[in-house]
Amino acid sequence: MLITCDNKGCLQSSNALFNDITKEVLCGECGRSITNISDAMKRTLKSFGQIVRTERKAFMLACPACRANREVVMDQNNDTLCKTCHEPITIHAAFKMAMEEAGGLERVDTTEIKVSTKKTTKKKVTKKKATK
Ligand SMILES: [Zn+2]
Ligand SMILES: [Zn+2]
Repeated sequence: MLITCDNKGCLQSSNALFNDITKEVLCGECGRSITNISDAMKRTLKSFGQIVRTERKAFMLACPACRANREVVMDQNNDTLCKTCHEPITIHAAFKMAMEEAGGLERVDTTEIKVSTKKTTKKKVTKKKATK
């Protein structure tokens, strides 16, 4: 649904997004809030799914293995690691806490990534013959 922006210098029609938290409608072109939007229109935007989705911030840290800044993720053991190469990245506990407060790190399960070579050993059920 196209909404015409009322901001000076923009005035573009765009698929504006409704922010349910701030109750603002943000222009898809300039990103500024459009003020002349009625509540009914806001509800319409909401029903159309034109809403701002709060994206989780990606945390970037220098990965020694990649020698580049990579997104940090957390594995099943609460260890932080590089999203690209899955090498562990050690971070300060305080930084880790700040990340958790900011919405947490993306979770990965390295047990799924690493090809498990475990062979399922079938237990042989040996029936004991009752010896008299
Ligand atoms: Zn605009
Ligand atoms: Zn890496």
